[in-house]
Amino acid sequence: MTFNEDIGRAVASLHDGQAAWEAAGVSRRIEVLARWRNALLAGRKAVVEALIEDTGRKRISESEFDGTLRRIDYWCEHAPAILGRVSEGRSETAPSVYFEHQPHALGVVGVISPWNVPLLLSLIDAVPALLAGCAVILKPSEVTPRFAAPLGETLRSVSELAAVFKIVAGDGECGRAIIREVDAVCFTGSVETGRKVAVQAGERLIPAFLELGGKDPLVVLQGADTELAVKAALRGSVLNTGQACQSIERVYVHESLLREFLDRLVAAARQISITCDDPESGHLGPFIDLRQADTVEVHLEDAVAQGAKRLCGGIRREGGRAWCSPVVLSEVNHRMRVLKEETFAPVIPVMSYANEDEAVMLANDSSFGLSAAVIGPEVQAIEVARRIRAGAVSINDCGLTTMVSDVEKDSFGESGVGQSRMGEAGMLRFLRKTALLMQTGEVMGIDAFREGG
Ligand code: NAD
Repeated sequence: MTFNEDIGRAVASLHDGQAAWEAAGVSRRIEVLARWRNALLAGRKAVVEALIEDTGRKRISESEFDGTLRRIDYWCEHAPAILGRVSEGRSETAPSVYFEHQPHALGVVGVISPWNVPLLLSLIDAVPALLAGCAVILKPSEVTPRFAAPLGETLRSVSELAAVFKIVAGDGECGRAIIREVDAVCFTGSVETGRKVAVQAGERLIPAFLELGGKDPLVVLQGADTELAVKAALRGSVLNTGQACQSIERVYVHESLLREFLDRLVAAARQISITCDDPESGHLGPFIDLRQADTVEVHLEDAVAQGAKRLCGGIRREGGRAWCSPVVLSEVNHRMRVLKEETFAPVIPVMSYANEDEAVMLANDSSFGLSAAVIGPEVQAIEVARRIRAGAVSINDCGLTTMVSDVEKDSFGESGVGQSRMGEAGMLRFLRKTALLMQTGEVMGIDAFREGG
């Protein structure tokens, strides 16, 4: 049997299960997911150990697991209200027509996930899709595949769910085979792959929800509390070794604060420890994918060759893995790759600006538009935040999108396509709405359109 036939069979069996799953109703689906949630909790140790093995990070793997459970609870709690809203009435434009909207689940959804937050980003779309009545075929990244086996065990213990939720292992070829078969695709990953996914989905005319990369800016305004700004900027850019789509990857500081901000940032960055010598101790774990270290080196070489100054930090390679102590760069500009391309690492290029118009221009000068942050006096910060073209803008902190599951956001530019995966849209996007239209007035005859009266 070929690989494609395997996927074909898996999707065919999901199609068989999906109709009954959708017809069972949301209360039944919640009941099944609640049982699975308990099985998942019982399997926490095995799943977390697999995540630690693949990612080299302990505390983040534990909080990734717990955050995933909280999201399952959130969706189960809110699904009845989100899905239960009846929309019906008289048409305003044709009052004799009575309408009723009928939701239809999209069918079998393919979920293709990346390596940087392997479990959470595998279930973030799968759970609302299942609750909406879809079946799901999930392909985690081949870079971090270990958690799939213990996750699959938890599914097998809930047979109703196992019939509509399958996990397959493989690389890009497996991803392509999935898109060949499914009714919709949720993809999280790089812009480069996202483009290929969009083309393939476009050829088949199936919906594609794409969550792609970012180059998130932070603007520090005149009058900002620099201590707060440094604290937020540092956490926002180095957490998870910078391997997060919503990492701060460029910082613009008002010229009046530049010196103080840089001094404080470098001092704080130097306090950040890596787990290289002791995996149980330190702030930053290794790069999950070793190739990321090469990208960092290329970006740093390019920046330094064009005049940037590295004030601290760098890569350390040891035993087949690589770590990165936070790198702070000054004297940078938008011709450098480190200001234009996703670095996906704890690298913080800092530039100064003279006025708010310039700050907004610099923040918006990017092919991406995932999220952003502004720190400063509240009124000005809100004004500046409103002008930034990004799906979410954190004010007086960074990366707040990781804390809110209930707030919608749509990406700009190359950061993504399709409705928000957060908030109500995150579930409603898995439904197609049909309209039942009842004529309650007189039926119009063809004579109404006869030329010449
Ligand atoms: P990637 O694009 O290399 O791979 C992502 C997934 O796509 C993997 O499972 C891979 O096997 C699969 N794949 C590869 N080629 C494919 C193809 N032709 N068709 C279908 N699937 C294919 O991304 P990555 O390196 O694993 O992840 C890092 C990227 O993900 C970063 O750019 C990051 O910003 C982005 N990301 C975005 C978000 C978001 O919410 N916007 C969240 C996390 C990560």
